[in-house]
Amino acid sequence: MSVATAAADRSVCSPLPVLGRDVRVPLVTGGEVDYAALDYAASAPALQRVWDDVAAYAPYYGSVHRGAGYLSQLSTDLFENSRRTVAEFLGCRADDQVVFTRSTTDSLNLLAAALPQGTRVFVFETEHHASLLPWEQRADVEVTYLNAPRTPLQAVDALEKALAEREPYGPALVCVTGASNVTGELWPVRELAAAAHAHGARIVLDAAQLVPHHPVDLAELDADWVAFSGHKLYAPFGSGVLAGRADWLREAAPYLAGGGASRKVTRRVSGEGACGVDVEWHTTAARHEAGSPNVIGAYAIASACQALSEAGFPALIAREQELIERVRAGLAEVPEVQVLSLFGADAARVGVLSFVVEGWNSSHFAAALSAEYGIGVRDGLFCAHPLVRTLLGSEPQDPGECGAPEAAPGERSLNAIRVSFGVGT
Ligand code: PLP
Repeated sequence: MSVATAAADRSVCSPLPVLGRDVRVPLVTGGEVDYAALDYAASAPALQRVWDDVAAYAPYYGSVHRGAGYLSQLSTDLFENSRRTVAEFLGCRADDQVVFTRSTTDSLNLLAAALPQGTRVFVFETEHHASLLPWEQRADVEVTYLNAPRTPLQAVDALEKALAEREPYGPALVCVTGASNVTGELWPVRELAAAAHAHGARIVLDAAQLVPHHPVDLAELDADWVAFSGHKLYAPFGSGVLAGRADWLREAAPYLAGGGASRKVTRRVSGEGACGVDVEWHTTAARHEAGSPNVIGAYAIASACQALSEAGFPALIAREQELIERVRAGLAEVPEVQVLSLFGADAARVGVLSFVVEGWNSSHFAAALSAEYGIGVRDGLFCAHPLVRTLLGSEPQDPGECGAPEAAPGERSLNAIRVSFGVGT
């Protein structure tokens, strides 16, 4: 099968080594093969460079912002330098903040919690659940859902129209994905940012699937915030980033309350003694980073940013586009395969692609790829249920969160198969 052939053919060499290429996996038919990781969109393997950097730092591990000793100072410097490296990688403006979080999901929930009261949020129904769901957690925020567009231009037009219809308003936010975790298609971020700003709204970019494949420059895109996860950027150490405008973050209540976020805490007393505390919160990124920071996670992200910058995105993109074309050409040879697409065959895309195979249950197909070929892909609805349902034209019975609903053999599949790749494939 074409995906198996593309995965097994390693003639297109990666400029940046990753861990896991030498992992051997058993086959159900007997024997074993090299594992073919084609599930980068879920979690990418660590860059060898990231692993080496973290290992070199590990003996010097110390508490960040909480100690006078040498190792604590060193760890604090490493953490703050990592912040600067990430800011540079993202093209942050001088007054932008880089907040270290746990993941993209965490970053977008942080931003949702930080929205000024009464913010109007505009979001396409095609978003990943991480960028679709956080906004309604705020009872005082009104969310406008936009239908799935079928071209990038339609996306811009639909946003323009929705923004114009709802004017005038106070604070407003558009949330949009940079690259789809289902189709790999690129969204017209620059144009959507221009539309948002023309109507006085701000924009946050869910770049979980974009940063591993494309340069993201906040100033150049004129985007207000960007969110992404380390584990999709070849840095699997439990960290993420929310970067962008400082004002809403500075004015919001801390995402978590605790040490590190508070600058000064004083006793409040009444006649009977203690009756409370008064808190001065930091106005820097630390305001939303209460608790001991994940210095290894932050350093791993910074190391990955540096490695990708040094390798150069033009070279990485050229190689990835070659791989995408090979996978698409291979799949096109199989008449039973339908590749899922919102924007059509000519859309610009990253190395993420979903498909269904007529007559096959996608879960069975994915299981067979693993058991018979040692190829790791993903099946399901990819935490983007509305989008996958739209693309499949189906209403699954009981998908479960990111689940894999059953279809009888021979029936049209109710979910899809995703292959995704990047540096090291
Ligand atoms: N946004 C997109 C486009 C994603 O693909 C994902 C993960 O698959 C997320 C957000 C959530 O990322 P995380 O699970 O690291 O929070």
